[in-house]
Order: sequence, then C-alpha cells, then structure tokens
Amino acid sequence: MNQVLVIGGGPAGIMAAIMAARNNKKVILLEKNDKLGKKLFITGKGRCNITNICDVEGLLESTLTNRKFMYSAYYSFDSHAVIEFFEKIGLKTKVERGNRAFPLSDKSSDVIKVLQNEMERLGVEIFYNMEVKDMILDQGCVTQIITRSRTFDCDKVILATGGLSYALTGSTGDGYRFAKKLGHNVVQLSPGLVPIETKEPWVRKLQGLSLKNVSVQIIGNQKGKTKILYEEFGEMLFTHYGVSGPLILSGSSFLPKDNVHGIKIIIDLKPSLSIEQLDARLLRDFQKYSRKQFCNSLDDLLPQKLIPIIIELSNIDEATRVDQITKEERKNLVQLLKGLTCTIQNKRQYNEAIITRGGVDVKEINPNTMSSKLVDGLYFAGEVLDLDALTGGFNLQIAFSTGYLAGISV
Ligand SMILES: Cc1cc2nc3c(=O)[nH]c(=O)nc-3n(C[C@H](O)[C@H](O)[C@H](O)COP(=O)(O)OP(=O)(O)OC[C@H]3O[C@@H](n4cnc5c(N)ncnc54)[C@H](O)[C@@H]3O)c2cc1C
Repeated sequence: MNQVLVIGGGPAGIMAAIMAARNNKKVILLEKNDKLGKKLFITGKGRCNITNICDVEGLLESTLTNRKFMYSAYYSFDSHAVIEFFEKIGLKTKVERGNRAFPLSDKSSDVIKVLQNEMERLGVEIFYNMEVKDMILDQGCVTQIITRSRTFDCDKVILATGGLSYALTGSTGDGYRFAKKLGHNVVQLSPGLVPIETKEPWVRKLQGLSLKNVSVQIIGNQKGKTKILYEEFGEMLFTHYGVSGPLILSGSSFLPKDNVHGIKIIIDLKPSLSIEQLDARLLRDFQKYSRKQFCNSLDDLLPQKLIPIIIELSNIDEATRVDQITKEERKNLVQLLKGLTCTIQNKRQYNEAIITRGGVDVKEINPNTMSSKLVDGLYFAGEVLDLDALTGGFNLQIAFSTGYLAGISV
C-alpha cells in the first residue's frame, strides 16, 4: 500500500502533497470543495501575498504563537526557498513594499494553477468533493479515512484542514475535531487578525474614514496594572461597528483570547509631533483663524469627517471664537488629538478573521517532522496547528514551511 493521504487542498496540504510525491510517495489528496485553494484564491485581496522576503530571524519575529516551534520548519524552507520553489514551477514573482512577495501577474489564480500543474506532473491523485468525515485509529496508527462515499486505506496521513476563519472557503474546523478524537489537545481557538467592535457611538459616525500615518496603542489591564499590549504606526479604518484596517487587524492578535471587554484603543492622530510641537502648531492655526469660530479652525489639521467628532469630544463649544479659546482648553485639545480613545466591546467573528488563533497543541508535534508524538503515521501542516503570525505573507509562509516538512518527512 504505502500510500500517503493528504486531507485538505489548501496551501499547506498542496505543499505537503508535492513534497511527498517528489520523494516518490504515492499521494492522494482529499479536498471537500470542487476546487483547490478556495481560501488561497482570496488571499491578499485576490493578489496572494505568498510570503515575506526576510531572513529566518524576521520570520520568527513575525510569528506570534509558538515561535520556537517554527525554527526547524523555517530553516528547512524559508521565504527565499518558497520563491525559488514557485519560480521553478513556472510562477514569476515580485516583491513590494514591506518585503511582501506576490505573483508578478497579481493573480492568486496563477499561484493555484502552478501548484495544480505540479501535482498533476507528479501524479498526485486529487479527489474533489471528498469531505473527510472520520479517521479510524487501529493500535495507535491511523489506518482508514472515511468520507461519505468511500473509505481510503492509508499508512501515512497529513492533516491540513486549516482553521475556522472564512468558513465558506471550506475551513470549518474539521481538523480540530479529528485531532481531538485521535487524542490530541486543541489549544483554545479564537479569531485572529480580525476587526474590532467598539463601544463609543461617535466611532460609527466616522464610518468609512481611513487614517494614514497614525499610531495606535492597545492598553489592557493585567492584575490591576495597565499594560501596553500593542503599539504600532500605520493605517486604520473606521467602520459601522468599530475599527479595522492593518493596524487594528495586527493589534487584534495581541488581545486576550476570551475577555476583551473594556480594553482601550488609543489613537495618536499626530504621532510625528510631540505635545509641545502640536500645541505650537495649534497656536499657529488659531492665530491664522483667530476671528473664526472653533468649528472652522481645524481644516488644516484634520480630515473633514473627523472635525465634528473632535469638536464634540473637546468640550469646547463649536461657536466659540478661536481667540477666546483658553490655554487650558487648547491643552486638552492637544491631549485629545494625541490620545483619541475608544473602548473595545468585542472582536468580530471568524467569518471576518484572516486567521484562527489556537489549534492543535504543538507540544504533541515533532517540530522537525510535523509528525504526531501520539499517533504513528499522523502528520499536521498549516493553520490547523496552534501557530499564527502577523499580516505580510507570514501566515502562508507557515503553511508552506510546515507543509514542506510534513511532505518530506512522510
Ligand atoms: C481574506 C483572507 C486573506 C488572506 N491573505 C493572506 C495573504 O495575503 N498572505 C498570507 O500569508 N496569508 C493570508 N491569509 C491567511 C492564509 O490564507 C491562511 O493562513 C492559509 O490559507 C492557511 O493554509 P492551510 O492550508 O493551513 O488552510 P486552508 O487554506 O484553510 O485550507 C484548508 C483546506 O482543507 C479543506 N478541508 C477542510 N476540512 C476538510 C475535510 N473534512 N475534508 C476534506 N477537505 C477539508 C478546505 O476545504 C480547504 O481547502 C488570508 C486569509 C484570509 C481569510
């Protein structure tokens, strides 16, 4: 028999299947959808940010959960190796701002196409619409994979079913169920890289406003002490429920998994100016508009949509003549501009989360081979594992590196 079964036709499963086949294994890949890589197709807004061109230290730094576990996988197959792999199978690539690598064509479908061609070339047998329902354990080994229509015998299985996010792509968390049944521990799951719902009503009035060059701090309370959970400079967005955009998605991965209620997001609207510099800047603007009302004095400083909100929160009457604003009021205004604060109510759900945090406990996985320490012949790859990273191509790199190791190790 000597047959390798890969469950899941996402980036991790495909990479594993290719590597196993290149090592002369007979490989069968089971995918529940009618096509491969449904999630891969929507990555990077349809452009697929394949990886991030940095050294292994950079990959490790951007890995937020179980960084050390990834040492071996990254050193075996780093982002340069991923690019070389794709170029060799016929995908031209390019690198953009922030070292993010994309297909030259800007089409994720081209990534899927070359992967599919390579599997065909290697003789990987792909079964579509083949949803795995159960895995049968016999004397500590997985011996059979059950789907609705048939049963597959196997002696090696690579479980690459992904996480729980964007369930319409096929990632419905089946792998967690199988892993548990086979005796594995699954670390608490939670949506990651996900937008955030906030409490204050003024936030909703800013719906659609995107802020560039701001800095965001997320401040939590740990054992009665305030703690900075996250701090970064960049871009964010207001929505009808709260906040989103790159800074917020990244920040969400630093939140506790369960209770996020009451945690504060502090936005510095003018991070490049110190308090004194911003005060001087305001003074200049106020001199320029000294005979106008307060509500007509902020046009040079803030986007239009933000002005009424800042006025509302400043407690300065909008009709106040600018030359009547006191030093104290101006000071408070500076504080407000450097610390616009909203309160987290919740994270959005899995259907809006880029990744799933938590997953199969890596303590029970051999980091050099991705094999289970509990079940003979069982391997894991990709998001089903308790691994996650920042945006920028790092999550696909996790899928490719773990898929590679699992594939060469079977
Ligand atoms: C909107 C969006 C954009 C993203 N953009 C990027 C990006 O640009 N760069 C980046 O690095 N990361 C990005 N990610 C994250 C990245 O897509 C995932 O980390 C990656 O797809 C995980 O790969 P995987 O193979 O482990 O799982 P998946 O891609 O989820 O693949 C799992 C596969 O298993 C199949 N499956 C599940 N259960 C069964 C079953 N019971 N039987 C048979 N088959 C099954 C599923 O149908 C699916 O095809 C993005 C994610 C989203 C949601």
